[in-house]
Order: sequence, then structure tokens, then C-alpha cells
Amino acid sequence: MSTTQTIPVDSEESRRYNRIKRWIGMGDFVIGFGLLVVLLATGWTGTLRDLALEHHGIARNYGFAVFLYLLMLMLISKVIGIPLEYYGFRLEHRFHLSNQKLGSWSWDECKGLLIGLVMATIIVELLYFLIRQVPQYWWMIAWAVFLGLMVLLAQLAPVVLFPIFYKFEPLENEELKRRLIVLGERAGTRVRGVYRWHLSEKSKKANAALTGLGATRRIILADTLLDNYSEDEIEAVLAHELGHHVHRHILKSIFVQARITLFGFWLANEVLRYSVDRRHMFETMSDFANLPLLILVSTVLSFLLMPALNAYSRFNERQADRYCFQSVASVEPFISSMNKLAEQNLAEKTPSPWVELLFHSHPAITKRVAAAEGWARTH
Ligand SMILES: [Zn+2]
Repeated sequence: MSTTQTIPVDSEESRRYNRIKRWIGMGDFVIGFGLLVVLLATGWTGTLRDLALEHHGIARNYGFAVFLYLLMLMLISKVIGIPLEYYGFRLEHRFHLSNQKLGSWSWDECKGLLIGLVMATIIVELLYFLIRQVPQYWWMIAWAVFLGLMVLLAQLAPVVLFPIFYKFEPLENEELKRRLIVLGERAGTRVRGVYRWHLSEKSKKANAALTGLGATRRIILADTLLDNYSEDEIEAVLAHELGHHVHRHILKSIFVQARITLFGFWLANEVLRYSVDRRHMFETMSDFANLPLLILVSTVLSFLLMPALNAYSRFNERQADRYCFQSVASVEPFISSMNKLAEQNLAEKTPSPWVELLFHSHPAITKRVAAAEGWARTH
């Protein structure tokens, strides 16, 4: 038990850093939202569609035109969004949180754009194929396929997606492996793998996560954490991640997402019909110039649901924390690891209640520490 109670006051540096980060996030949203509205309101989306349909060389093909339209849309939004992204990159350096060179960052941007393009192409081509083939029920089928893709992506992410940006290797530390096996046995479960995540090449922040589904499910621990935290502290972090696993948080989140996207696809269909039948913005449902409208529906929906989804995430985090308290010998290493993480990542330990309510996927550090102390008092 800790006997000295100190009320943590966040440094001016941490306050400023987090404030700017929030502005960047909001700026990013406003720019994306603004672009979609401008495209729709000015009719420029129709101009882009005509451009996509006018291509020469390759036979006039609907599917290819959809791809060209999407490519132009993504490039435009990248060009508009890049100054703010670059500002975010500089910000990490300004607060001494990043090691990443400009070249490496630019390369990551290119890879991100390319991956985004591949995934968006699959989804958008599929959407317009379904809208053309089964105009009545396209949204239901699209939802079912989308759900399948989401599960597949959750499975593939740790083995296909993350390694494009970071190096991973199986954890070598025998003592930590032993402790994890003990934790797993106590939970009646087995974690298939723990991986060292080479984060230090790019960032000074520390992090850990449970990722994947089924055979690819694994805990990843950043080297920035493994090299600077005591074994007891790392065990506490592991126990927290194991808590996510035991409570099946990844699967549950997919179920939550599934319900939201079902509503989202239904809404998209209603909005699309309204824009075609009542407002005559587009001649047909399959006019892919209406893509900004579809994206707008999903953007607005995710924006409105953000506080609720963050609340759900904080609920899961508290559950994982409680699991950790039950599984380790003492809560002290949990508390010290939380404080270390906050310092290292320049996180606000005491964000304003409104900020926490709206933007934070994790409870404030002070609350997590208080919960640990409370648990220790009663057990
Ligand atoms: Zn967590």
C-alpha cells in the first residue's frame, strides 16, 4: 500500500501537447467533412465522375471508372489533409516524443495511402456492384460482406498489416514468458504469443496491446516498454492485456461495430434514395458521384457515436484493469507502470471531465490508479 498520497498535477507541457492534439483531431474532421460537403454542394463530384468516365485507352468500363473516381477523391483529400498531418509529425518532435526521420514518415504516408486505396477499392467496388445488381437489398448484403471483411481484417492485421509499418519478433525473455504462462493458467486460457514490437525506431512512447483473432491473437509489447520497465511492471501490463483477452473484448467490439454498421448501411440507403428520388441530386443510385454522400453518412455517424464508443471502451479498460488487480500479487507495479506511461507518453493524468467523456478511450490515469488503490484496500 502506498502511504504518501500526492495529487498529480499535469505539467503545462502535457496540457499543451494534448490540447494541440485535440485541435489537430478536430481540424482533421472538419477538413474531411468540409471536402465532402463542398464536393456535393458545388456539383464538383459530378465533374470528377465525368472525368472518370471519360478515360481513354481502356474500354469505357463502369468498374474502372469507379476506381478512377475513388483514386481522384483519395488523392484530393490527401493533398488537402497533408499539411495538418505534417504538423502532427512535427508536434511529436517538438515535444520530444518521436525519433522518426522525415524520410521514414513520408514512406509510411505512402504505404498508408496505398493500403487505404486497396481497402477502399475493394469496399467501394463491392458497394456499387451490389447497388447495380440488387438495388433493393444492396445495403443488407453489403453489411454482411463488410462484416466478413472486418473479421478477416482483425485476423490478418497482426500478421499482414502491422508488419508493414513495424518489426515484430517473438519475446525472448524467459522470465516474462514464465510469468505469462502462470497468468494464463490461472485464467484457464492460453495466449498464443507475445511479441516484441520495435516501436523505438519511430517513437519514444510506450505501448502494449492485444491484437488479432483466433490463430493470430497475440499480445504485443513495445520495446520502449520492455527495456525501461521492471519485470513486475511488465507483468502488470501483460495481466491487463490478458484481461482484454479473457473478457473477449475484441470479439465484443466487433459485435458492437456490427450493429452500428447495420444501422449505418440502412441509413446510407435511405439517404441515397432521398437524394435520388426527392432531391434529384443524382439520376440513379448507381451514379458513383454520390460516394461523398455515403462517406458523409458514415463520418457523421461515427462522429455522433464517438462519445458512446469511447464510454464503451473505457468500460472495457476498467474491466481489464480489475482483471489485472486480481491476477498479480500487488497493485503497486500497476500503479507505477501507469505513472511511468503517463510521463513517457505525456498523457494527461487529470484531463477535464468533458475531455475525458468525449475523447478518451481509456479512463484518466488518476482514476485507474485510484481504482487500484481502492481494490488493494478492500482485498
Ligand atoms: Zn487496455
